[in-house]
Amino acid sequence: MSESVPDIVIPSGLLPADGRFGSGPSKVRPEAVSRLVDAAPGYLGTSHRQRGVKDLIGKVRSGLTDLFDLPAGYEVLLGNGGATALWDAAAFGLIERKSQHLSFGEFSEKFARAVASAPHLAAPQVIASELGTHPSPRPAGDVDVYALTHNETSTGVTMPVARPNGEGLVVVDATSAAGAMRVDPDEFDVYYFSPQKAFGADGGLWVAVCSPAALRRIEEIAASGRAVPPFLDLKIALDNSRLNQTYNTPALVTVFLLASQIEWMLERGGLEWAAGRCERNAGLVYGWAEASPAATPFVADSRQRSPVTATIDLVASVDGKVLSTVLRANGIVDTEPYRKLGRNQIRVGMWPAVEPEDLEALTRSIDYVIERL
Ligand SMILES: *Cc1c(COP(=O)(O)O)cnc(C)c1O
Repeated sequence: MSESVPDIVIPSGLLPADGRFGSGPSKVRPEAVSRLVDAAPGYLGTSHRQRGVKDLIGKVRSGLTDLFDLPAGYEVLLGNGGATALWDAAAFGLIERKSQHLSFGEFSEKFARAVASAPHLAAPQVIASELGTHPSPRPAGDVDVYALTHNETSTGVTMPVARPNGEGLVVVDATSAAGAMRVDPDEFDVYYFSPQKAFGADGGLWVAVCSPAALRRIEEIAASGRAVPPFLDLKIALDNSRLNQTYNTPALVTVFLLASQIEWMLERGGLEWAAGRCERNAGLVYGWAEASPAATPFVADSRQRSPVTATIDLVASVDGKVLSTVLRANGIVDTEPYRKLGRNQIRVGMWPAVEPEDLEALTRSIDYVIERL
């Protein structure tokens, strides 16, 4: 960066104890890292086909069954490549012919684009809305997958997870919502995510909670003879997941951190506790922005404001790039907005692992910097 950045030192008494406010990868709890270090000699560098790793994957699957209070017949699938890989896997193994996509930011748009290029599918129906809002699904007779996004991380917009009246699987990108927002499993068929957001782990893995109808769809497409690359084959992922394995080698650190975070959430009261904490966190950040003469929540409708990723617009006299850079120099990192949104904005991750006291300290630190810019 060529522009000069003012040399503002935030007093240590104002600073948060932990300065990680990214929207993903997000803060990894130091206690989880310590547990990993303790477990490392018997775990890291051991075979994922043996009990040590398989038991942990089993814990992830049963822990998520508890966390989401899954009805009988739902199953937890895992594979490598993160949510982005699941979009391609869905194009091969979940969409029969045509999908409908609600497009309201970078991630929901990317899924629609991935499907649009699949030669074996009909052109997807894409319903878009202005950035900072969300569209609603429209029941359609020829649609067999409705693609929803519980939290659009790029714009900080959340939408309800609810079945449209109609046939078709409800397939929800919950990458930044799972583990941080309440959800009713009766309202979805696939609820998928990566572990580096609310689960405070590392990336590289995808997890998909699947309803009986979704499992049937996976079996039916597999039996239909459609050509599917094995790495993206959800039937192979299903068969491996049932054995507490993945098709190829997973990142063992990611599996460990994910399992510890699920256990940590369950010990504290599960999803209700995690969602309550995120709401409290969000109340602090949006409350600060509404009271500040320099800031305004980007999402106008308070019901659509994300409880996990707050997007906050700044007045023209405060340069968001300079603000984030000064914060970074003071150890407060990753408050930069989504790069392609192109607004004078900051974005703040308010995940279950982020302490409310640290968010209060963040807002005080921001006020301190703004007064001196
Ligand atoms: C981060 C994110 C993704 C991409 O996750 P990867 O693990 O990088 O593939 C997809 N969708 C949403 C909503 C996200 O927040």
